[in-house]
Amino acid sequence: MRCRTRSAPLALAAAGALVLSACGSDDGGPTTSSGDAEACPGAVVDVVVSVGQWGDVVEALGGDCASVTTVIDSVAVDPHDFEPTTGDIAAFEEADLVVLNGADYDHWAADAAGNVDPAPVVLDLAEVVGVESEEHAEEEGEEHAEEEAGGEEHGHGGVDPHIWYSPDSVQQSAEAITAELGELSPDAADHFAERATAWEQELEPYLAEIETLRTAAGDRTYAATESVFDHMAEAIGLTDATPEGYRESASNETDPAPGDVAEFEEALRGGGIDVLVYNAQTEGGVPEQLRAAAEEAGVPVVEVTESVPEDGLSFVDWQLAQLQALSAALQQQS
Ligand SMILES: [Zn+2]
Repeated sequence: MRCRTRSAPLALAAAGALVLSACGSDDGGPTTSSGDAEACPGAVVDVVVSVGQWGDVVEALGGDCASVTTVIDSVAVDPHDFEPTTGDIAAFEEADLVVLNGADYDHWAADAAGNVDPAPVVLDLAEVVGVESEEHAEEEGEEHAEEEAGGEEHGHGGVDPHIWYSPDSVQQSAEAITAELGELSPDAADHFAERATAWEQELEPYLAEIETLRTAAGDRTYAATESVFDHMAEAIGLTDATPEGYRESASNETDPAPGDVAEFEEALRGGGIDVLVYNAQTEGGVPEQLRAAAEEAGVPVVEVTESVPEDGLSFVDWQLAQLQALSAALQQQS
């Protein structure tokens, strides 16, 4: 169990020492949550998940019948600059199934899976939901040199790979994960079906909050220091009022021109932006400057993160807290 309390508390207390040793260090290395061969009616599937945004989802869906290793499972690691170590690569060797975000977000994981013999089944979630970069579709397997040269900016070559911020994509991905697990361990299909039902229930408050926000959004606007939240903003129905110059430079992985930053600050002062969505996971002088401008202008700031911000926080709890903060910010403005 990966520092979380999905199991009954008693079982967790009994396994306390083991839990501690599994979770004691947060050095950015892979973490593993073990399945339970005795409780699983079929074979336990060994799954490697590239990023923590999906790790909790796969753990929830796999239950006793999946051992889930999550390679990037620390908020201290920037997925955009990630270079796997040999230890990270070794995690792929025993995998039956590799779950990738895809859309060139975690190309290193596709490469690592491709070098394993026998090859694991690879589930590319961006492919599942139809958010795939053209380059990736045309030249599968090629290095994404542009991104690697891109430094700390937040572009992804034209597509928005942050599909865990799309509620539709989250649901479609979960269905695909359940289906793949069932194919790899057919005797455990009933267990996976139960887990899928439990997951859908877990998702209910998240979906309900999105519905509430959809009603509240109306003609409301947001601007964002980075694109990470855009899929969710679109699902909610918020209008993107991020000034175009800033937006373009952010998506082109270039520093925004001083004029673009000034335009953004002016827009924040001008009253046309109801909320500033701020990616708290990346550091940078410009986003901080925009945040300060928003605060000065009385525009509420909602913090979001690229990755699960603390160890043990479930996907739903993470997302829900951000959505509730957005609800509060919109109410404050209305
Ligand atoms: Zn990103």
